[in-house]
Amino acid sequence: MQETPPHIAIVPTPGMGHLIPLTELARWLAEFNINVTLLIPNDDSPPSNSQLSLLQNLPPSVSHRFLSPVDVTDLHSGIPVETRIELTMTRSIPDLRDSLRVLSESTRLVGIVVDLLGYKALSLAQEFDIQSYVFFITSALGLCCAYSMPKLDKMHTREYRDLPEPVQFCPGSVHVHGADFPDPVQDREREVYKFFLGLTECYSKVTGILVNSFFDLEPVAFKYLMENRGKEDNFPPVYSVGPVIRAGPEGELLDGSNSLKWLDNQPNDSVLFVSFGSGGNLSHEQLIELALGLELSGQRFLWVVKSPHDKSNASYFGVNNVDNPLEYLPQGFLDRTKGLGLVVPNWAPQVQILSHGSTGGFLTHCGWNSILESISHGVPLIAWPLYAEQRLNSVIIAEDLKVAFRVKPNEKGLIQSDQIGQYAQCLIQGEEGRVLQEKMRTLMDAANVALNKDGSSKESLAKVAQVIMNHKITKNESNHL
Ligand code: UDP
Repeated sequence: MQETPPHIAIVPTPGMGHLIPLTELARWLAEFNINVTLLIPNDDSPPSNSQLSLLQNLPPSVSHRFLSPVDVTDLHSGIPVETRIELTMTRSIPDLRDSLRVLSESTRLVGIVVDLLGYKALSLAQEFDIQSYVFFITSALGLCCAYSMPKLDKMHTREYRDLPEPVQFCPGSVHVHGADFPDPVQDREREVYKFFLGLTECYSKVTGILVNSFFDLEPVAFKYLMENRGKEDNFPPVYSVGPVIRAGPEGELLDGSNSLKWLDNQPNDSVLFVSFGSGGNLSHEQLIELALGLELSGQRFLWVVKSPHDKSNASYFGVNNVDNPLEYLPQGFLDRTKGLGLVVPNWAPQVQILSHGSTGGFLTHCGWNSILESISHGVPLIAWPLYAEQRLNSVIIAEDLKVAFRVKPNEKGLIQSDQIGQYAQCLIQGEEGRVLQEKMRTLMDAANVALNKDGSSKESLAKVAQVIMNHKITKNESNHL
């Protein structure tokens, strides 16, 4: 008799940058004959078109369910994104528990996967006697940073941005200035600091940590993470499984702007793609400066523009896309750049744009998915970090991998149009830009190798799949075997 396939619950915390890699991981696990249910917490806003489109065309062995919406109206608007995510997760636990119970009664449920901020759900693994995994959806260096924080907290009393010297999160790694540490550790008085400090403690009992990166991209960080295992008891196995990025065809469905058709008519490697991810916003002053910089550069561009906001992550929860962003552009900008640039409101099919031959550079807010997508398609970068761990990501790409120019704000915190113009020009046409592109293409090749049948990431994922397959169910076993 054939055994029922094992079943895994995957729980992404709110945000497209979380849902995308976790949905893709579900697809990848399905290839190992593992069934998956995505259980998606949400905070009362109806699913967006981009969410729904992502959840279309999943293989039959991957299903999804939105958990009952939770009330977050008591949270004040200044609350850190990470805290709101954590509270949404905490408040979703009762429904998550019920959903797991249903799954454990109807399938051979053997494990749960949460993303890096979903640690509150890990306790359910013990209740159901199943395996637990963290999908760490940012860099391996980010994980080293998390592991370093308790020690750094003991060593220093001042804010990290005031440290006179940069630090290394593991021996041999790139030096990082305190000002480039992730947002949650930038204010030691805040609750979110304590949460970040305790993050790796929360991970200590998990079956494994899957990192969305690949060994040859971050060999120093991965060696450290993998070798520490065995030396320290509370260090679970770490698997490099990336780049787990979206490859699906749903992009075209969302291309109301016809950006792909527009790209078809541009010369090879000539277009600078400009986007600040799913949640990033610029102030109005900064948005105007960016527009003038693009115009000044004389380069072709494809810009996904969002309405301005003084909070750099204002549209993270999708609340800021109500008015027409084009109204905020400088007067006459669209006419003056007609033929040279395309401006797309709010959302564009990013992976398809990056994979298009006409795209020659990417001005990015340095979300980790965006970086992986750019690496996977060999597109060099201008790094313009805004929030979360994006400044740390920009250090990795600009100073360690050297595949990006990093913008520098003036004393008022503004990136000026002349700098934007210069970087855009240099990336698309200049000699330095050509060097970055060559390095990026080498990384693209390395990413492809990692994902080959015998590549490091595919092998790591196969090991995880094996552990999942081997899980012995002690409760309810007789129901499903
Ligand atoms: N994305 C997209 N179109 C957009 C903006 C974003 O397809 O207009 C996708 C992008 O390809 C990436 C994800 O949304 O997969 C954003 O994740 P990232 O980690 O780069 O940034 P975040 O939005 O989480 O800050």
